[in-house]
Amino acid sequence: MKRYVYSFGGGAADGGADMREALGGKGANLAEMSRLGLPVPPGFTIAADVCGHYNENDGAFPPGLEEEVADALRAVETHVGAKFGDADNPLLLSVRSGARESMPGMMDTVLDLGLNDATVEGLARGGGGERFAQDSYRRFIQMFGDVVLGVDHGAFEDILQQRKDARGVCLDTDLEAADWRAVVASFKEKAREALGEEFPQDPHRQLWGAIGAVFASWRNPRAETWRRLNDIPADWGTAVTVQSMVFGNMGNDCASGVAFTRNPSTGAREIFGEFLVNAQGEDVVAGIRTPWSLAGSDAAGGKSMEALMPAAWSALVDTLNRLEAHYRDMQDVEFTVQRGRLYVLQTRSGKRTAAAALKVAVDMVEEGLIDRADALRRIDPQSLEGLLHPTLDPSAPRRAIARGLAASPGAACGRLALTADDAEARARAGEDVILARIETSPEDIHGMHAARGIVTARGGMTSHAAVVARGMGRPCVSGAAELKIDLEAGTVSAGGVTLAAGDVVTVDGSAGEIIAGEVPTVAPEPGPDFERLMEWADGARTLRVRANAETAAEARVARGFGAEGIGLCRTEHMFFDDERIPAIRRAIMAETGDERRDALADILPMQRRDFMELFDIMAGLPVTVRLLDPPLHEFLPHRRDELADMARATGKSVAEVERRAARLREANPMLGHRGCRLGLTWPEIYEMQARAVFEAALAVGDARGAPVVPEIMIPLAATGRELELLRERIDSVADSVASEAGRAPDYILGTMIELPRACLRAGDLAQTARFFSFGTNDLTQTAFGVSRDDSGRFLDRYVELGIFGRDPFVTLDEDGVGELIALAAERGRRARADLKLGICGEHGGDPASVAFCHRLGLDYVSCSPWRVPVARLAAARAALGAQNAKDNTR
Ligand code: PEP
Ligand code: MG
Repeated sequence: MKRYVYSFGGGAADGGADMREALGGKGANLAEMSRLGLPVPPGFTIAADVCGHYNENDGAFPPGLEEEVADALRAVETHVGAKFGDADNPLLLSVRSGARESMPGMMDTVLDLGLNDATVEGLARGGGGERFAQDSYRRFIQMFGDVVLGVDHGAFEDILQQRKDARGVCLDTDLEAADWRAVVASFKEKAREALGEEFPQDPHRQLWGAIGAVFASWRNPRAETWRRLNDIPADWGTAVTVQSMVFGNMGNDCASGVAFTRNPSTGAREIFGEFLVNAQGEDVVAGIRTPWSLAGSDAAGGKSMEALMPAAWSALVDTLNRLEAHYRDMQDVEFTVQRGRLYVLQTRSGKRTAAAALKVAVDMVEEGLIDRADALRRIDPQSLEGLLHPTLDPSAPRRAIARGLAASPGAACGRLALTADDAEARARAGEDVILARIETSPEDIHGMHAARGIVTARGGMTSHAAVVARGMGRPCVSGAAELKIDLEAGTVSAGGVTLAAGDVVTVDGSAGEIIAGEVPTVAPEPGPDFERLMEWADGARTLRVRANAETAAEARVARGFGAEGIGLCRTEHMFFDDERIPAIRRAIMAETGDERRDALADILPMQRRDFMELFDIMAGLPVTVRLLDPPLHEFLPHRRDELADMARATGKSVAEVERRAARLREANPMLGHRGCRLGLTWPEIYEMQARAVFEAALAVGDARGAPVVPEIMIPLAATGRELELLRERIDSVADSVASEAGRAPDYILGTMIELPRACLRAGDLAQTARFFSFGTNDLTQTAFGVSRDDSGRFLDRYVELGIFGRDPFVTLDEDGVGELIALAAERGRRARADLKLGICGEHGGDPASVAFCHRLGLDYVSCSPWRVPVARLAAARAALGAQNAKDNTR
């Protein structure tokens, strides 16, 4: 018969770390820790396949489960020496979710389960005392009421606050046994009012209610959002772990805390975390009281675990060391101290900033814990972008209006939003947003994702906001207590300044500061760990990485990040300069070829200088110059008089018509008079560009004492004939330059592959082209028939509907566009064995797409300079067979 229940603790260990799929991360690691002999309170895990059964069968459990749970529960009772539901010596349980991949706080949890009017008295008599027992009972009613019975959480909070106000105290810990007894009575009353029946007293009904609620929480909206953002399949389901309670809230020799084996912000090798004396775990995470630090004998005036509980502290240090050595990764551990004794409730691989991930990986290689390939597999290529992102300019004036914890590093500036919905709406409208909340909860996840930076008035370094922001790579300041956030007025005030939603603020997540207005930022300097990882990546990869760059500044950044050449120089970007645009306009208006040539002659020396600079910076590395691509109307001014005519005819104001037109405007997908079509019909432009390239190559070649061999690339070709004709023209320019200069310029002619026909007829194109560079922006546009400029308005919906796994302009559609590329590569190489193949669309910097290019055997990818390190790492991981990301279309 199929087995659903796996025991751990108290000598049992039915599973292990290799059973994540069935037991979820939490259950598998509890079993593993039991095997290691660590102090884990006994319990059992119900496998994740029950989740699917439960949710697909209207809340029915599979046959046999009840008996298995009863057996496992009996074993727990024996180990603990207490009985579930017993009025004298009650066993209490926690019921917690645990998916294969961690989904922090997204699903539900119930603690202190098994309490009722009788067992609460037994708990008090059992040594915990009246105050502790009643405190536990009110926690249970609140959690169970909220999670299982659906009673509004806020209603309980109000009752608690009223009690505190009546007693004139601030903290929960200031309330006494009688207060809790009164709070419990009011809570039960509130539950009765909301439910029309008594709060359930039967512990078994409580247990099955909680198990069902946790399985059901797999499908709550915040869990769904998290899964969507993290590519977690909906059919995995969560496991449910039922564990005997240990109590951090029995008195001052008890505590609850969270510990990381290394610092999750910096990666430093030091124990990092927080704890609260006389509290349950939820208090630490929820930021209800400000927690104290773990290490430091004199830290915060002796308010550290090391100072207050030396024996438990040393047990914790020992446990953390063993866990890290065993898992060979930084661990994030939840623990409880009950009457001075340490218990471990959970371990998982710790979420960390990109900087910490890098440092931990490089340090662990040096410590001999992992090898270089492991280190490369552990770093998410996309996260490197976060490392390379700007920080605040240290020389710029700044005055913080409030300070808090430096919860997640980096800096961001944007308009203030006070709710997650507002943050999302503003981001959708194209604004950069800073989300400010009193504290965040998993409900805010969509707003946090939409925001550039996050600020909270409450919460510690392991609060929800801090953990989630770090994972997302968003700068975050948490616990900025001076901030007064007034949701009704829509304002945030601090330091004598009041800001309204929509005002500009800057967040410095590295310094923990919030600043009114915008502060300039500077580019970061990646440190030696980054360089080492990149070296290891270069040693592992086979795919070459170039950059898309056209300015000297971009070319320098690209080289600094290790680009092995320029894969795409979009020459049109060189034409928009104030100095050049009048000449371009004159060329466009010219009536004859000679007139046009005259106008272009003014640009020639400037283009030559541009290319000389690029060849010089790239110092012998390949440079691909793409001849002019966009349609010429892009260089013309925009007319508004027609809009005025329309306003008159429709009886609207010009402003109204403009607004409507702006909303409806769709750019032509630009498949008209552009690319090589322009080059063939207005040949003077390409002639000027080719001349500029050849003259620059000869000049830089002379200066360097080594020939420069530029790659000239033709855009948007569909036929072999187009390339043949253009090669003749470019050759004749080369001949003229040769006769003037007394020596012939060398060059390589290639083409972009951006049209389905070009893929099909790749063999024809390869007769002339010596290289192909897949322009996957246009190829995606032309393969799908979806305009790359106007698709934003429906792509989100397409992703929601599951038509696309991801935006195909971000991650290559392997099934369709990918097949076209594979076909073109194969047909092209058949026609020309040494045909060089690359890609230069935006996908060249997307890790999943880079992996695809590796699998296809392309020679290089070319991406924006800032993404060069991302592509280098993604290429290395692809060579090592690591999964970069999931497939795109479904
Ligand atoms: C492309 O189409 O993928 C490409 C790189 O060219 P552009 O983005 O300039 O059209
Ligand atoms: Mg293109």
